[in-house]
Amino acid sequence: MATLSAIVDYLDILLQPAAFQDYCPNGLQVEGRPEVNVLISGVTACQALIDAAIEQQADAVLVHHGYFWKGEDPGITGMKQRRIKALLENGISLLAYHLPLDIHDEVGNNVQLAERLGFEIEGSLAEGSGPPLVLHGRLPGNPSPEALAEHIGRRLGRAPLHIPGRPVDTIRRLAWCSGAAQQFIELAADAGMDAYLSGEISEQTVHIARETGIHYYAAGHHVTERYGVQALGTRLAHEFGLQHTFLDIDNPV
Ligand SMILES: [Zn+2]
Repeated sequence: MATLSAIVDYLDILLQPAAFQDYCPNGLQVEGRPEVNVLISGVTACQALIDAAIEQQADAVLVHHGYFWKGEDPGITGMKQRRIKALLENGISLLAYHLPLDIHDEVGNNVQLAERLGFEIEGSLAEGSGPPLVLHGRLPGNPSPEALAEHIGRRLGRAPLHIPGRPVDTIRRLAWCSGAAQQFIELAADAGMDAYLSGEISEQTVHIARETGIHYYAAGHHVTERYGVQALGTRLAHEFGLQHTFLDIDNPV
């Protein structure tokens, strides 16, 4: 059991949300009751996750994808009204961390994804003055491009879409970024990587892979972002003695 404000203060120190320029507010997005005992974590604060949290009598929900995204209609109507109404009526807080949770060096999505995939981290690829979103490193054993696809599928429980690049025997250097992140493929190719892994693919990603020669793996936006929020929820549970459950609301994208 902990107070909501103690949890928010702890996350302010751990994730430093004020240091980020993001597409959404990071932190407490919807305020529920002041005490937290049951915490539910999930990738996205969709209605299914909220309904499950109500069912489990949660006091707070922790997500990577919350609400109030830049450019969206700020009105609380329709789908957004139903979600927020359900949270408020049940006294459930919503805590959401986007970029601060992607890049954190312990509980971040990219580090947690590397751990899940057995990638050794060697560094990050700089993208202007922005935060270091893309990590690079290697998979011990330097697999073939096909073996890497199989490995990713086995570890993540879902086969990735592999767009072959240049014919190579082994993948020696690879870069990755959780979430959509297909736009960083050229950054990875320019840095001399043999392969790049992200969540979502676009039509043009195929041509970039073919023409730069980099092997590309689309492993799923949801799948690649399951691990950071789980690690963060587990950490909060240990720190504050909370009852924590990660709920995987499946998403094929
Ligand atoms: Zn995302």
